[in-house]
Order: sequence, then structure tokens, then C-alpha cells
Amino acid sequence: MRQPFDEEGVRAATRALLLAFGEDPEREGLRETPDRIARFYREWFCPEPLKFTTFDNEGHDEMIVQEGIPFAALCEHHGLPFVGQATVAYIPDRRIVGLSKLARVVHHCSAGLQNQERVTGRVACYIEEHLRPKGVAVMVRAEHLCMAIRGVRAAGAATTTSDLRGVFRDGPARAEFLALAGRGRR
Ligand SMILES: [Zn+2]
Repeated sequence: MRQPFDEEGVRAATRALLLAFGEDPEREGLRETPDRIARFYREWFCPEPLKFTTFDNEGHDEMIVQEGIPFAALCEHHGLPFVGQATVAYIPDRRIVGLSKLARVVHHCSAGLQNQERVTGRVACYIEEHLRPKGVAVMVRAEHLCMAIRGVRAAGAATTTSDLRGVFRDGPARAEFLALAGRGRR
């Protein structure tokens, strides 16, 4: 069960972690560190609520796509960031959404401890539920610091995940999206 975010608990745990590292939490450089880390995690775990304002669709029936949406998330296995870009597309039915909201959905769905597959699925799911489009497609490409700075140290390796729903599952919309979203690949 998820508990509410406990900022004081994070502060105390960070201090305990510094001690476990063999550090002196009272030395000048570290004195404010538990506080800074607790504030960072509060921001990370408790994002502002998302206002997903939609509008009547005035007959648009082509794909609406936003590419290169920058995002960052924290990997739940290592607590390290993964950073990259998302491409989000949908084909509207009765409603459309303000373009900035697509980027906001990506940020909203990246909060907390994540894996890339889940972020991808959450974005698709959110848009499907709140916009009821004919189809939604999400592609996420990210570099994981847990792969870059530890373990295999494969800096620069990118992981791509996608979630295609509705009319994007097959047929021309799928091909069109994959050609477009895959364009940024090297
Ligand atoms: Zn990881």
C-alpha cells in the first residue's frame, strides 16, 4: 500500500545514509544535504496536479504528434535517473487537447520511482482515458544512468519502448507513427 510522502522521514534517512557512508553529516558541505535531498524527493514524488483541458474537435481526423518531449525519471531498481525524449501522437475522436498538455502528461507520468516501460504505458493510458481518441501512440527513448555509470558502464546506450493503442495497433497509422518516431534514431 502506498503511504503519504514523509519528508521528515527522508531527511532522517538521508542523515543515516551519510553516517553509513562513513561521512560526517555535520561537516559544512553536508550540513544542508539531508534537507536538500528531502526537498528534491518531495518535488519528485508529489508533482503538481495535472489540468488536462480538452476542447471540441472541429473535424480534425489526422494524427497529431509531438516529438522530442524531454523527460527524466528515477529508475526504481537503482534510484538513478533515466533521461531522454518521448514522442506522443493521437488521432482525435470528439475531443482534442492543448499541445502543452502532452508534454505535461509525460512529466506527470514520470513522477516517483519508475521503469521505462511503465512510464510509456502510463502516458498512453492517461491520454486514452482522458481524451478517448481513436488511437494513441507513445515512444520513449532514454539513457539509463544505472547502465552508464555502474554495472556494464554502457554510456550512450539508449532504450526504446513504445505503446500503441486503438487505430495505431496496426495498419497505416502504425506505420506512419513508427516511421516518424523512429526518425530520431541513430
Ligand atoms: Zn536501474
